Amino acid sequence: MKLVVDVHCHLDLCEDIPAVVKRAQDAGISTIITNGTNAESNKKSLELAKTYDIVNAALGIYPLEGLQLTEHQFDDILKEIEKHRNSIVAIGEVGIDYHMIKDKNDQQKKNFEKIIHLAEKLKKPMLVHSRKAESDTIDLLESSNAKKVVMHCFGGNMKLVKRADDLSFFFSIPTNIVSLLHFQEIVQRVELGKLLTETDAPWLSPFKDRKNESAFVVESIKKIADLKKMTPEEVVNAIYMNYQRMFC
Ligand SMILES: [Zn+2]
Repeated sequence: MKLVVDVHCHLDLCEDIPAVVKRAQDAGISTIITNGTNAESNKKSLELAKTYDIVNAALGIYPLEGLQLTEHQFDDILKEIEKHRNSIVAIGEVGIDYHMIKDKNDQQKKNFEKIIHLAEKLKKPMLVHSRKAESDTIDLLESSNAKKVVMHCFGGNMKLVKRADDLSFFFSIPTNIVSLLHFQEIVQRVELGKLLTETDAPWLSPFKDRKNESAFVVESIKKIADLKKMTPEEVVNAIYMNYQRMFC
């Protein structure tokens, strides 16, 4: 298989990065989008994109990291992202998370709104985290009229899947689809033209005894092909076209 894509991972947090990239190439991964979560990891993401041909950078502010920053620090990162607009393919990882912190919802929404406006200004797609905040995240994206949206590792129910689908958002399916029925159901409900693949590496591994890495997207491809009753090659080609439509 060639042209396999991993649109959401954290390569800067993986161990032995050259080996991870090599194994990805050997497995047929054509593109890895490494996502920044704070000022430091954004810097590393840019460096990784410069170092490896198959790596592209997305810069962002992880919702929980955003809460640790002063407004001034937050705005400084947004300025940095804007400064590097020509070196990045997307804004990510960004979004809202009510799973870990439950008493700062308004601040999270305010922060995310600023990010959405930046993404629209720069005409970049967003890789969106929405853990336990799926409904509010979709509301905010809809009211801000956001166009290029990828819901990463979407945990919302099928009603919310339909809402996001109706708004033409894409879904990036993580590698733990091999065992999680929720993602299998998303794949069955959403047309192939709106699906992407990701790892969220080093997390969400499809294997109990190994940390996740981009090469493992191949496991998702097999599962998606199964569910869609297509060949793995057909799935890879369709998802690659989706990748080009969203990011190129
Ligand atoms: Zn992530």
